Amino acid sequence: MKIEIIKCLEDNFSYLLINEENSNACVVDPGEAKPVLKYIEDNKINLKYILNTHHHGDHIGGNNILKSRFNAKILAFENDKDKIPMIDIFLNDGQVWKDDIFEFKVMHVPGHTLGHICFYFFNKKIVFTGDTLFSLGCGRVFEGSHDDMFNSLCKLKSLPLETKIYFGHEYTLNNSIFCNKFDENNSELNKKIIDIKKKLNNGLPTVPSSIKDELDCNIFLRAKNLKEFSKLRDLKDNF
Ligand code: ZN
Ligand code: FE
Repeated sequence: MKIEIIKCLEDNFSYLLINEENSNACVVDPGEAKPVLKYIEDNKINLKYILNTHHHGDHIGGNNILKSRFNAKILAFENDKDKIPMIDIFLNDGQVWKDDIFEFKVMHVPGHTLGHICFYFFNKKIVFTGDTLFSLGCGRVFEGSHDDMFNSLCKLKSLPLETKIYFGHEYTLNNSIFCNKFDENNSELNKKIIDIKKKLNNGLPTVPSSIKDELDCNIFLRAKNLKEFSKLRDLKDNF
């Protein structure tokens, strides 16, 4: 399974997951159709499925055009049926879904939104975390509670260390400044910051990260309890 990173809008990442043997593909969170369409057309891809982590416009904005153009099916959390138009396949927490070489487990991770899900491709040790877990950060708590978000991050923390994380936004540099402010003697973090800057200076995205890197460096995952997490989240909201 090839993963093509498609930059959308200001700082969103959409991902095309491609079976290179038959060119069948899924797209995760197409924030807009145009850059996804361009890749599909340039590379003669068959878009079969659209996977949405949550209902925000910057993650579903390309759904309609891609669905009507390729007759692709939209997969999203069943409780978001009134928030994401034209869902074809409803997903539940813990469900394993498979077609072609695409096989993932649904992880319900409320907090950023109530119906946020992550797609865990357990055979490949890859997880698409949308706006729940970013590199060196986490999503704002909009619809759920801090408790929800803390528990959702704990679920992600329990994935195998080598799991690669594909997240929804390029916020990594700004996130690194926040982490560094509260954890300046963390040598793993300092190493990661050097690596991040190198990538960005070369015009490269900072995806993917890994569960190990985030456990070592992400201050929101390093928070020992709900109270510590909530304090950091509130500080970050005004950072
Ligand atoms: Zn969002
Ligand atoms: Fe977003």
